[in-house]
Amino acid sequence: MFNLILFGPPGAGKGTQAIKIAGQFGWKHVSTGDILRAEVSQGTSLGLKVKTVMEAGHLVSDELLIEIMESVFRTNSSVEGFVLDGFPRTLKQAEELDKMLEKLGQKITLVLALEVNEDELVKRLLKRAQEQGRKDDTEEVIKNRLVQYHHHTKPLIDHYKRQNLFKEVFGEGTIEDIFMKLCTVIRN
Ligand code: AMP
Repeated sequence: MFNLILFGPPGAGKGTQAIKIAGQFGWKHVSTGDILRAEVSQGTSLGLKVKTVMEAGHLVSDELLIEIMESVFRTNSSVEGFVLDGFPRTLKQAEELDKMLEKLGQKITLVLALEVNEDELVKRLLKRAQEQGRKDDTEEVIKNRLVQYHHHTKPLIDHYKRQNLFKEVFGEGTIEDIFMKLCTVIRN
């Protein structure tokens, strides 16, 4: 079982690369953002609870995310690997993830980060706003999401460095070139 965390700020290209990696290695792509957006668009009670938080660019509660991930692991027990995209995003989530995996007799295999300059991130997120009309890609909300990243998510780098699991790839260039670099690190 290969448990890969694809790490990086919003706009780093995690979603695009996670889909390609999952396809290449036959692993299950899990995007907590996609799961939450589906709940919102289906108007479920969970969706109603998280809609305003997401639209403001804030983080949904750790408890909810942990519940979602427990259910993901429960219902996908036979997959050969996971590509986690957008989770964990806080230290609490990372600690709970470690516990969840331990219970299953597993652990994180690799945390692979996409490194992209902040100007480029904002440019990409604004472009995505135009193309996909995501409600959380307006300039104000983008700022918020980057602040959340720096405040809550970036500290995870040290958590995973301490466990010797953290590796980084420069995330600017063509999608295909970045994908090749990621695959090389995964295979080694
Ligand atoms: P994403 O598509 O990964 O950028 O996620 C979109 C939004 O979903 C985020 O801005 C958060 O509001 C919420 N979200 C996704 N994953 C998480 C997470 N692990 N913890 C808290 N909130 C999350």
